[in-house]
Amino acid sequence: MVPETIVEKVLQSVDSRTVIDLTARLVRCNSVWDPKAGTGEAQVAALVAEWAREQGFDVAVDIVAPGRPNVIVRWTFGSDGPTLMFEGHTDVVTPGDRSAWRHDPFDAHVENGRMFGRGTNDTKGNLAAMLVAMTALKNAKVPLSGALVGGVLCDEEGMMSGVQDFIARGHADPVTAAVICEPQDGLICIAQKGALRARFTIRGRMSHGAMPLAGINPAPAIARILDGLAALEAEAVATHGKDPLLGWPSFTPTVIQAPARGTPQLNVVPGEAEILVDVRTTPDQDHAAIRAALADLALQTIDRANDHYRQIDRQLAIQRAGEIAVAVEFLSDRPCTHTAEGEPVVEAACWASRRIRQQPPELAGVPGATDGTFLWAMKGIPIVTMGAGDRYVPHQVDEWVDLDQLVETARIYALTGLHYLWPDDRG
Ligand SMILES: [Zn+2]
Repeated sequence: MVPETIVEKVLQSVDSRTVIDLTARLVRCNSVWDPKAGTGEAQVAALVAEWAREQGFDVAVDIVAPGRPNVIVRWTFGSDGPTLMFEGHTDVVTPGDRSAWRHDPFDAHVENGRMFGRGTNDTKGNLAAMLVAMTALKNAKVPLSGALVGGVLCDEEGMMSGVQDFIARGHADPVTAAVICEPQDGLICIAQKGALRARFTIRGRMSHGAMPLAGINPAPAIARILDGLAALEAEAVATHGKDPLLGWPSFTPTVIQAPARGTPQLNVVPGEAEILVDVRTTPDQDHAAIRAALADLALQTIDRANDHYRQIDRQLAIQRAGEIAVAVEFLSDRPCTHTAEGEPVVEAACWASRRIRQQPPELAGVPGATDGTFLWAMKGIPIVTMGAGDRYVPHQVDEWVDLDQLVETARIYALTGLHYLWPDDRG
């Protein structure tokens, strides 16, 4: 165990004021990726790089894409030992209609112990907390082994190119565990749902609404695909049940569009339709099997929809030209992650949380994918996702974070690092 005097030394080095001030400075840099408006991660990344250099860290800046830098913040205690990564992203999602906000989304307005603004919760507050925690570990002059790496990464809200670039450049190679700094309201999340996104394209033939027999309406095929998705979901629910940390698997059609393009019109049978499907998985499910099931659903739909039309054609003694075609493509595939409770980083996070919050730590799961998904899937790095902020506030108007919880989070991050990098032989 880490001696109490060492714990106190690290906690005294956590600068609460800086957690709040740095959060405000980060929030005031609008980092919505919008090249037309001239905003992106460059300004906030420059701020982090300069701040971290002032604290004495080794800092590297990688250009992931024009205007989209990653900042890598390092501190090495000794050449032996594990490397703990803290990860926080610099981009934020759009504020939407700024007039709908009670306080300007890039003003970092503070009221009743809460800071308001885009990114206060997801995840600039936690980014500031992790940087202050790393600084505390460095400045406390306690005998740690191994190294700390801060991955201050771009494009988490988009295609997650920042973390993929971080991995491609070899930065993840020495990393033995990672803390993903995201708003989880003090929960210690050791699992994440997987996500598989697909697009069904259904081709029929356009015609006049008054002469439907001259065309092939994609609608019956749409109905069969929706039924098929509901059946796949029911089967997954029955087979895999409710995951204790992640809940139920789901097959959700999110966009159902006919015509797929152009202006819909009441008296026109659309020639093409599109269904987007957002499949969320739990650890027992096999993504390859789901892809195969969705491909099979496309083939079955072709047969059933064409049978349907042939039957009508027979009844009406007509011969319709053409057939229904259905294709499915996969837009993204992000696996589930599950870090074992016995992993040292989970033990460190639980110990730190119990020590600071004076209550038993609560293990949970993350419903969405994060940058941690790639660290886990591509490099096998055990990850824990935790941080300050209500879990339902991200991406909403009037986004906010509780400042006491944010400071508490910096303290939990610092002790997680302390426990993880404390040499066993001294234990
Ligand atoms: Zn986030």
